[in-house]
Amino acid sequence: MIDLYRRESNSISNMAQLRFFPQAIVGGKGSYLRGDDGRQFLDFSASWGAASLGHAHPSVRDAITRAAADQAGASYLSSANEPSVLLAEKLLSLVPERCRGRVWLGHSGSDANETVARMVLGATGRRRILAFNGAYHGGTSGSMAVSGHPALKDVEKFGGLILVPYPDSYGAGDPEAASAATLSYLDEVFSTDVRPEEVAAFFIEPIQGDGGLLVPPVGFFIEIERFCRRHGILLVCDEVKFGLARTGLLHAFEHSSIEPDIVVFGKGLGGGLPMSAIVGPEPIMNHSPTFSYQTLHGNPICAAAALAVLETIERDRLVGHSAEVGSHMLESLARRVNAWELVGDVRGRGLAIGIELVSDRVRRTPAKIETALTVYRAFQLGLVLYYVGSNSNVLELTPPLTLSKSEADEGIAIIGQALQDVAAGKVPIDLISSFGGW
Ligand code: PLP
Repeated sequence: MIDLYRRESNSISNMAQLRFFPQAIVGGKGSYLRGDDGRQFLDFSASWGAASLGHAHPSVRDAITRAAADQAGASYLSSANEPSVLLAEKLLSLVPERCRGRVWLGHSGSDANETVARMVLGATGRRRILAFNGAYHGGTSGSMAVSGHPALKDVEKFGGLILVPYPDSYGAGDPEAASAATLSYLDEVFSTDVRPEEVAAFFIEPIQGDGGLLVPPVGFFIEIERFCRRHGILLVCDEVKFGLARTGLLHAFEHSSIEPDIVVFGKGLGGGLPMSAIVGPEPIMNHSPTFSYQTLHGNPICAAAALAVLETIERDRLVGHSAEVGSHMLESLARRVNAWELVGDVRGRGLAIGIELVSDRVRRTPAKIETALTVYRAFQLGLVLYYVGSNSNVLELTPPLTLSKSEADEGIAIIGQALQDVAAGKVPIDLISSFGGW
């Protein structure tokens, strides 16, 4: 179908759009997408990490086909179905003992985090929740209400929400200072009339994604875990974006050597289909029947796809692959950054990589416009990637977990070209006039 982008604007509401360039896709395979004009695009976003195994992966395709050919209903609300049970059993086998209890299945990171927020309050009888500034936990009322991302600043927050700064090692100048700032902020909050015993849960992203791909300082989350244990606060790890092999370990929280009470999965779990999961201790997860459900929750086709994703991650050793290709990319980027004047910092773990762009390396001034121009230019050159960050200045690389080293090199070369073209003023600013990004 040609002219898809224009036709979309005449038929589809813009409420769910977060656009960076005029991309219109008609197909895809592996790490590549095919545009409506026949062009191939290397995909360094994987639809924000959701297409974890890339596009049209045979394992996912076969699982969907089988599940749809003999379909065990459409939901687990009023009947058990085999793919949902198998998926839940598999997820339980993958998490630490501490949270190995029951599994709830949903459609998205948003519905899962919203459910956790309601559940922890109901199950503990406490009335406060801790979360981080910059955190994005979802786009439904309840998940936005516990998020600290600036894009959601006008959204009504949960009355008991306490937001604390996420440690930003680059912004603070060094990791110790970043860590100390958050920990002393926490002390300050609880030295007033707020008591830690009022807090039901602390929502954390073990690596903060939409807030700017912030990798926490070594030891930081151990301190947070201690704080939670001391006060009986549930540690909720939002693994929606960076869980399940993306960071070169199965779980992103493993990099911090912590054990959460509750883990939330989403995005890549479904391999491109809508699927999320909460895993946690039985007394909390069985807090109350009919507490949080939607008709298509536990859909057997989506559950079968998710199970195929988990089995493929194991079979094809994608945890190790992600670590290896991710290190290759980080090393390659590190070798080049000096030649790219806009780059202030490169950071990440495995195939979760952020490139922070600044207009002044000494002052670390966020280069917001240049970032928007860079992703636009990369798109012109055949690469899809988007940006994140509280200052909208961090290129986010979350390619398929199956990315090869040669595809990695191809994408990095395009990023370099795009950065050089933007720095040289070759990319007109009006190109981005109708692409607000976020
Ligand atoms: N949690 C994190 C860490 C995310 O990055 C996102 C989405 O960006 C969500 C939750 C919400 O996921 P979804 O948009 O699939 O509902």
